[in-house]
Amino acid sequence: TRQFIVGGNWKMNGSQATVDSLVQGLNSATLDKSVEVVVAPPALYVAKVAQTFKAGQVAGQNTYCASKGAFTGEISPEMLKDVGAQWVILGHSERRHVFGENDALVAKKVKHALAVGMQVMFCVGETLDEREANRTTEVVFQQLQAVADAIDEAEWAHVVIAYEPVWAIGTGKVATPEQAQEVHAAIRGWLSDKVSAAVSQATRIMYGGSVNAGNCKELGKKPDVDGFLVGGASLKPEFIDIINCQQ
Ligand code: 13P
Repeated sequence: TRQFIVGGNWKMNGSQATVDSLVQGLNSATLDKSVEVVVAPPALYVAKVAQTFKAGQVAGQNTYCASKGAFTGEISPEMLKDVGAQWVILGHSERRHVFGENDALVAKKVKHALAVGMQVMFCVGETLDEREANRTTEVVFQQLQAVADAIDEAEWAHVVIAYEPVWAIGTGKVATPEQAQEVHAAIRGWLSDKVSAAVSQATRIMYGGSVNAGNCKELGKKPDVDGFLVGGASLKPEFIDIINCQQ
């Protein structure tokens, strides 16, 4: 069975003071112990959160595909690991669409982060235009293929897939449980065809996009929804209710 996982992607939000209070709130909350919790603060706050957060693990929101060097403005997964983060989010739709990252770059980043020993939340998802053109699985499979071509079968043990339809991110338009399940099942089928049956069964697939305390219970009941990657609601007390959605 796949352990339920809930991630909080804080994106480019917060200050030292608000980050401290988010951490304290989570540390003092009663959380479902069967759920793996990961928070992703802005890079500047990762080191502090890695020291203070007791309720789970810490992720970076991005890394570059090299260990060090002349890459002004970038950070390496080695650096994240050095300050105590175990995870990194890669291929987020904001990286793809706001910062122009393509499948090839995302695949290199995933490969490098895994080689360093990080756990990866690898994000995939279609735009509204792509969904309306019935291209959802084509787009998602292409995003998956780029990473599958770059990593070994054994490395999938350190990858969690986050299905985040772009039209649902930050819009309040959450995918219905049926829409999420349909794509999650397709991803699992793809893993079975293209990687292996074992990887297909073991790999967790999180849903992300306008998840909140009100919609998480129904989404979380779907058989192929193994967790959530939460943006806006992860900055609020309701993140605790999302973590506890299975109780
Ligand atoms: P929202 O929950 O704000 O829609 O963001 C989802 C997301 O992008 C998580 O990575």
